[in-house]
Amino acid sequence: MIQSYIRDVPDFPKPGILFKDITPLLQSPQGLREAIASLAAKVEPRSFDVVCGIESRGFIFGTALAHHLGKGFVPIRKPGKLPWKTAAESYDLEYGSDRLEIHLDACQPGQGVLLVDDLLATGGTMEAAIKLVRRIGGRPVGAVFVIELGFLEGRHRLGGIPVHSLMTT
Ligand code: AMP
Repeated sequence: MIQSYIRDVPDFPKPGILFKDITPLLQSPQGLREAIASLAAKVEPRSFDVVCGIESRGFIFGTALAHHLGKGFVPIRKPGKLPWKTAAESYDLEYGSDRLEIHLDACQPGQGVLLVDDLLATGGTMEAAIKLVRRIGGRPVGAVFVIELGFLEGRHRLGGIPVHSLMTT
């Protein structure tokens, strides 16, 4: 059970947030293997060409999943980290806003892209990532998460692409 590897940490990083800590899952050989195999089982590998992960925990699951499925990996990063030409998208946080970037040549026009992050909360982060993939000519075919905070209904912001998660709280 994926659930048994997730540690709930109250009031991190600030009061009122129940942080879902994935480090026990990563630390466990069985947990990590089960997580990647379960994510792989949710998707149709023939429908996409690359896996795109969002900094930073999306890199961990995204790269492992890409390797597992024999695909390449594309990072979506925080501002100022990518060295080549980028497209950028700003999105709202609870307080203030943040920004994500992708390399303009991160995928070929029309390529299918599977997006990955560790957790779906309000959906703002993944919504911005989907926009970025479209902006550079990619075709988002789905979004997968290890954890979904279902009560925040973030999946409704993702424009109707298929959304899968391994556990919902
Ligand atoms: P959102 O844009 O609201 O869907 O937030 C998703 C992003 O914030 C993901 O990259 C998560 O890693 C992080 N995140 C949001 N809420 C939590 C939480 N309760 N525990 C751990 N990570 C979170």
